[in-house]
Amino acid sequence: MTPQISFEFYPPKTLDASFRLWEAVQLLAPLAPAFVSVTYGAGGTTRRLTHEAVEAIHRNTGLAVAAHLTCVDASREETLEIARSYAAMGVKQIVALRGDPPKGSGRFVARHDGFASSVQLVAALKAAGDFHIRVGAYPDPHPESGGDPQADIDWLKRKFDAGADEAITQFFFEAETFLRFRDRAAAAGIDPGRIIPGILPVEDWRKARRFAEGCGARVPADLDAAFARAIRDGREELLAIAHCSELCADLMAEGVGKLHFYTLNKPHLTRDICAALGVSQKAELSRVA
Ligand SMILES: Cc1cc2nc3c(=O)[nH]c(=O)nc-3n(C[C@H](O)[C@H](O)[C@H](O)COP(=O)(O)OP(=O)(O)OC[C@H]3O[C@@H](n4cnc5c(N)ncnc54)[C@H](O)[C@@H]3O)c2cc1C
Repeated sequence: MTPQISFEFYPPKTLDASFRLWEAVQLLAPLAPAFVSVTYGAGGTTRRLTHEAVEAIHRNTGLAVAAHLTCVDASREETLEIARSYAAMGVKQIVALRGDPPKGSGRFVARHDGFASSVQLVAALKAAGDFHIRVGAYPDPHPESGGDPQADIDWLKRKFDAGADEAITQFFFEAETFLRFRDRAAAAGIDPGRIIPGILPVEDWRKARRFAEGCGARVPADLDAAFARAIRDGREELLAIAHCSELCADLMAEGVGKLHFYTLNKPHLTRDICAALGVSQKAELSRVA
């Protein structure tokens, strides 16, 4: 069985980046993803750019698009208005997150008139319209869970109870990390089929390691050493493809049927890993701008 795949992109901030996003979409669209998602910059900084990227992909490709939406720095009404504007253009999939504050500004602080948590946002979206809502999940404990894996599960359960349809996980480096998380989620009454692993093809190990440290993803020492050797030998990309393909294959062998790739708008590794997993070109872009 080939997996159902989906891709995450981030909104471009420059004209050059817009071309790169479009190239990435064109290269990956023929793999017929179930959906593609567009992130919302930390601190809500890309509100307009996210909207424009979602609209452009939706109108020009025929792909199903999921718009990320966070609670940061907006009133409840402003946030719901963004969701309603997506619905009006036919985008009915939302990745609903509490969000992080702008870089360097510390912890999330709810605005007095804003949503205080992802649970509140999910509940309001569910009441506001017919959205397919995905939320974030954390196989390695989220930094704000106090290091308690059960706290993340309990909180995830609340998001499902509030109306979430599926969860996409933060990236992780070992299949066991996801599988143990899935078991804990199932034990808490969450349908494990609704948890989609987030997969990070490693474009640049040093950056990936830094990002992992920031979001609480555990970096296995042997993988760190293997990447150090691969970088020295000029084989970083080869190791990235081998490691990520094996991670995905291990997940699939354990019955995981959906994979969500963090593409970072760089499509080649993702495409090669999909090919290694047997996902081949199925579709042409239905419309090209
Ligand atoms: C798939 C995915 C996509 C993402 N996309 C974006 C994006 O586009 N833009 C962006 O800015 N960020 C994004 N992020 C990062 C995300 O915003 C941060 O990880 C943020 O710190 C948490 O958001 P959340 O909705 O997952 O939080 P939550 O799940 O609401 O909280 C994270 C953890 O904190 C603890 N916690 C939080 N509130 C409570 C509470 N009231 N009571 C008890 N425990 C609590 C729980 O342990 C919980 O698991 C994404 C993350 C993922 C996994």
